[in-house]
Amino acid sequence: MFSLIIYRLPRKISIFKPSSFCEICHQHLKFYHKIPIISYILLKGKCPYCSHKFGFNHLLLELLTPLFFLIIYINNPIGLNFYKYLILTSAFIIIFFLDWENRIIPNLITLPLIVIGLLFSFWSKINIIQLFLGILIGGGILTIVGLVYQCITKQQAIGGGDIKLSIAISIFIGWQLTLFTLFFGSVLGIVYYIFSHKKSETIPYGAFLSLSAYISIIYGKEILNLWIKYLSPS
Ligand SMILES: [Zn+2]
Repeated sequence: MFSLIIYRLPRKISIFKPSSFCEICHQHLKFYHKIPIISYILLKGKCPYCSHKFGFNHLLLELLTPLFFLIIYINNPIGLNFYKYLILTSAFIIIFFLDWENRIIPNLITLPLIVIGLLFSFWSKINIIQLFLGILIGGGILTIVGLVYQCITKQQAIGGGDIKLSIAISIFIGWQLTLFTLFFGSVLGIVYYIFSHKKSETIPYGAFLSLSAYISIIYGKEILNLWIKYLSPS
C-alpha cells in the first residue's frame, strides 16, 4: 500500500484504481505478486512479466514498515498513544520515501495529518497554550532554519511542505520534542550536504525531519529527561 502511494502521488495517478501494475509493461500484478517481502524475494525483485527491476527501495520499504510498527507497539500499550504514533509513523514512512526520491511533501499527507493531530490533542485535553507554543516553534523555527540554510548553501532547502510537516509533528509530539526533532533533522541535513556529491542538489529535509521525529517518539522520555536535567531554566 505505501509503495503504491509513494509511486502514484508524484505521478498524479489515483491511489484507489487501477490496481498495482508494472510501470514499464503496464501489466497488472496478481495478489500473489504483491505479498510484502516474500513476493520480492521469490520474484528476485523483478516484474513477473517483463523482468523490470523494482529497485532496492521497494524491499527497504517492505522491511522497514513492519519493523517501525513493531517498535511503536513495543513502546506503547494499545491505546490512544499507540494509534496516534501508528498514524504518524505511517505518514513518516510515506514522506521519507517521497521526499528522498522526488523532493516532495504533498499537502495530501501533511494537511490531514495536522487535522488528525488536532483531534487527538483535543481528545486527550492537551493544554491549549502548549499546543500553540508547539505550532509556533514548529512553524517559526523552521522558517528561520530555512533562511540560515539558504545563506550557507545558496539554495532553498526548506519549502512549505517542510513547514507544514513540522507543524504537524509539533501537534503530535509537543514543543520540547519538536525542538529536538528540528535540531537533529538539521544535523542530518548538514551531514547529507557535506557528503553529497552534487552540491546543487536540494536536501531532502522532510525525510530527515520524519526520521528524527520518529526517533523522538521512541526515545521521547530519555530526551525529555535530558532536557529537564540540562536545559530547563529552573
Ligand atoms: Zn513489467
